[in-house]
Amino acid sequence: MGSLEGNNMLSMVVSNAKLAREEERQENINITNTNLTINQCIGETDANLKAIITHYVDTLTYSSLRNLGYPTNQDFNYDALASLFHFHLNNAGDPFVGSSFSLNSTKFEVGVLDWFAELWEIEKSDYWGYVTTGGTEGNLHGILVGREQFPDGILYTSQDSHYSIFKIARMYRMECVKVGSLLSGEIDCVELEASLLAHKDKPAIINLNIGTTMKGGIDDLDIVIQTLKKCGFTRDRFYIHCDGALFGIMLPFIKQAQRISFKKPIDSVTISGHKFLGCPSPCGVVITRLKYINELSRDVEIIASRDATITGSRCGHAPILLWYALKKKGLIGLKNEVHECIINARYLLDQLRDAGIGAMLNEFSNIVVFEKPLDDNFTRRWNLATKGNIAHVVVLMHVTKEMLDTFVREFIQKRSIWYKHGHFQPLCIANHVGSTNCVCSIHKLS
Ligand SMILES: *Cc1c(COP(=O)(O)O)cnc(C)c1O
Repeated sequence: MGSLEGNNMLSMVVSNAKLAREEERQENINITNTNLTINQCIGETDANLKAIITHYVDTLTYSSLRNLGYPTNQDFNYDALASLFHFHLNNAGDPFVGSSFSLNSTKFEVGVLDWFAELWEIEKSDYWGYVTTGGTEGNLHGILVGREQFPDGILYTSQDSHYSIFKIARMYRMECVKVGSLLSGEIDCVELEASLLAHKDKPAIINLNIGTTMKGGIDDLDIVIQTLKKCGFTRDRFYIHCDGALFGIMLPFIKQAQRISFKKPIDSVTISGHKFLGCPSPCGVVITRLKYINELSRDVEIIASRDATITGSRCGHAPILLWYALKKKGLIGLKNEVHECIINARYLLDQLRDAGIGAMLNEFSNIVVFEKPLDDNFTRRWNLATKGNIAHVVVLMHVTKEMLDTFVREFIQKRSIWYKHGHFQPLCIANHVGSTNCVCSIHKLS
């Protein structure tokens, strides 16, 4: 979220919005009142510590009521697992090999992995995977496996990819071709074809977006596979990693959506556990083909395990949180949640459109994209994620229709202030979402 300072036009709008400023002041008082500096020689009393945490919980409760822009589902309750915090749980090493450190939760971890293997259609005997610290680590692992298969391979990924992909290309010193994308956010396969043909001499490592971060565009796996074939890339010359951070667990529950399946020539899939499923701390899952891991891993004596993961010590609580969420919801519960989120996203789209606000929602998506609000306070108040002229709301289970109604009502009110005297106009978002979804002065009639 950018600062408004140094931008005269926008700061004028902000100075009009007294209400928002007052609100922000209140919120700041909440947070800055507590002194968190650690500088005492003697330890803090339990009563004081408790007071600080209680105050912090109040602040959190307040902000979680308006968490609309980031894909972290707040609808969960893990109270039943509280007793686990009396133990240090560490899954260092390979979850399938076990380790000499006995306070681990690898049995739960394997349970979670088996569930995802079945979801993405790969036999138990053919896959390997582990519970990661999040989608980024899953990408780090999947792309590493790809690079070990093809040390001189070129990484192809669309411009709408998550920032971790470009970071990983730099970390691994891989040549990376950034391919253009369509308005939906999905990769432009015409451009992909031209790029592949231009580098035919080197193997291809494809990062496929199963839901882009900003617009929820889904790269078309089948067309990408066709494109590879058409360009002469045989199965032994490409690797496909699927970055399914948010949608990787949603698409399997939508009948009409494309299948992410290891029955197709894909090589690794990853999701973030704290996004759709909802976990109190970041975690994720990566699954790949077992045959690749045997080449990549090393035996390590001190933990009596096999080293094939990115990190050493691994959180032993995360696999239990994931296991608990999956076990409690069941397939039917998950399916209902996926559908509810998509229905509520369509509801938000309709509300915005009815109010004359430019907006877009992809077909199998819960990410509603719309014009960026002119006022940073409003953006911050609702925790919106913004990029260029657009902002988005990710509709997850904690987002109720009432929350959406309040949000839209406030948005409409603020807009009437921002655009009051005709000095300011809604931002043009046509190049992000297409002219038919844009209501700026040029496109409002199209
Ligand atoms: C969120 C996201 C990631 C990164 O996930 P973290 O869990 O934050 O590391 C990767 N790819 C996509 C498409 C994402 O939306």
